[in-house]
Amino acid sequence: MQSNAPATQAAPALVLFDIDGTLLRRAGPHHRLALAEAIRIATGFETTTDGIPLHGMLDPVIMAEMLRRAGASEALIAESMPELVRHAQAIYAESCPNLERKTCPGVRRTLERLERSGAVLGLVTGNLTCIGWKKMERAGLRRYFRFGAFGEMAPDRGVLVQKAVQEALRQGWIDSRARVSFIGDAPADILAARAAGVQSIAVATGLCPADELRGFHPDILLRDLRALRLEMVL
Ligand SMILES: [Mg+2]
Repeated sequence: MQSNAPATQAAPALVLFDIDGTLLRRAGPHHRLALAEAIRIATGFETTTDGIPLHGMLDPVIMAEMLRRAGASEALIAESMPELVRHAQAIYAESCPNLERKTCPGVRRTLERLERSGAVLGLVTGNLTCIGWKKMERAGLRRYFRFGAFGEMAPDRGVLVQKAVQEALRQGWIDSRARVSFIGDAPADILAARAAGVQSIAVATGLCPADELRGFHPDILLRDLRALRLEMVL
């Protein structure tokens, strides 16, 4: 086959999205309860996320900290992690509520416009793989995202962004000329974008106020996604 084969053409841009505070907010306690329940089943420890700054953290790192605070040894944490990851995903898949009305302002319209522009959209999130995809499914946003890099795939967010970019290049969805952006609501997202050498777009729709985000010097700072213009990412 020749010509007019858009599927083989590299897209002009890759736009990566964080989930919590960026695409969705007030999604309920189900996620943190799933982490605590997974820990209880796998290790017997009663734990909580109370007092842990969850914002911008990866799920496995959160579970490790929950266990540490409950007195678990580093050896037990390391040894039980694969089981924790498995249980947490299964429990969340069962308990995830409908999230259609939990999207941040401008999310659907932004994703529609980006999709029509030909950009490739992906997820970069600290959520475990099945938790992230389940949220997208229950929010009615699943179809916009071609792929993702998730919490159990790397030790930190900067590496997750790099992995996502490498995957898009490897698949031929983008080439080295593509513009790459990472949109997130936490200082950790700004730092991750910078570490990976991609454009950082901060949205003040999560827990972090705009003034605080500004202090981390994102390339672009938006009140919410309604302020995103296509030329910022294309
Ligand atoms: Mg977030």
